[in-house]
Amino acid sequence: MTKRANIAFFVPHAGCPHSCSFCNQKQISGQMKPLKSEDIIKTLKGIKRETLDNEKTELAFFGGSFTAIPKELMLKYLKTANEFKDSGIFHGIRISTRPDCVSDETLSLLKEYGVTSIELGAQSTDDNVLKANGRGHTALEIEKASKRVKEHGFSLGLQMMTGLYKSTAEKDLKACTDIIKLKPDTVRIYPTIVIKGTRLESLYNSGEYTPETLDEAVDLCALMLPLFYENNIKVIRLGLHSGGAVEEGYIAGPYHPSFGELCESKLYLKAALIKLKDLPKGQYTVKVKQSELSKMIGQKRINIEKLKEYGYCCTVKSGSLARYEIEIEKM
Ligand code: SF4
Repeated sequence: MTKRANIAFFVPHAGCPHSCSFCNQKQISGQMKPLKSEDIIKTLKGIKRETLDNEKTELAFFGGSFTAIPKELMLKYLKTANEFKDSGIFHGIRISTRPDCVSDETLSLLKEYGVTSIELGAQSTDDNVLKANGRGHTALEIEKASKRVKEHGFSLGLQMMTGLYKSTAEKDLKACTDIIKLKPDTVRIYPTIVIKGTRLESLYNSGEYTPETLDEAVDLCALMLPLFYENNIKVIRLGLHSGGAVEEGYIAGPYHPSFGELCESKLYLKAALIKLKDLPKGQYTVKVKQSELSKMIGQKRINIEKLKEYGYCCTVKSGSLARYEIEIEKM
């Protein structure tokens, strides 16, 4: 049985002081009503311990600006979660919030109430892009907040987006390298999707905004993945989760339910082509780590077919290799 790794509660838009151009958390999470403490209790009571890997499981509050929720309500959520702390079903509490909502005082309070990981929505490190998308904070605030979160001893997660209104691939790559310098433990990358009921929808309808194509987003994220990996930063999410109500609210943009796998497949294709390009056309064995076989082959064998188009007839096998590493042997 696959054990679940997170118990997630959504607090859609709770505490958000701004309305970000791309965001409709109610649509993204599929949760229209505000979260109540009773919802947390009901869910946690219904969870069977054996379905969880305690080492990996965190109780997570996502989808809003957790630390900007009125203090009384924020503490009510945390107190409720803490009542289950000794039950052994989770080992820590994860929250997501904005870089301008993590003062030293707030961080001390979160520590006291058992929060272990904090994710900050950075989205971009370009001030013009942040402004154009109504984020209400600057790149400097991301930097300062990240340092503060680490100094207080939390695990730091940073979320970034590609293809935002007024952004470019160059600016997104710069955001990637800026984020690496902040040494987060984890990163989530979300290509921008136009969702119903957002300002981006109006900008898209008026022709002001053109989203990335799926290919552009996949190519860009495939470039970023090894950069994070080489710097020991875990990419824990690539692309919006399927389900919820994303598909229903989808208007335009590079959404794919297996977006992460598409990116990793592209990364392997590029790596194979780089190694093969100086070799004569013919038959080769491509070796990758066992767990990466399907990514090297690609969905519907797309990578194998692509390599064939370049004149390389490849069989994929497993070898004692690291993730993203490949070896080519002549057959
Ligand atoms: S992106 Fe974050 S801060 Fe902005 S509206 Fe959505 S939940 Fe609130």
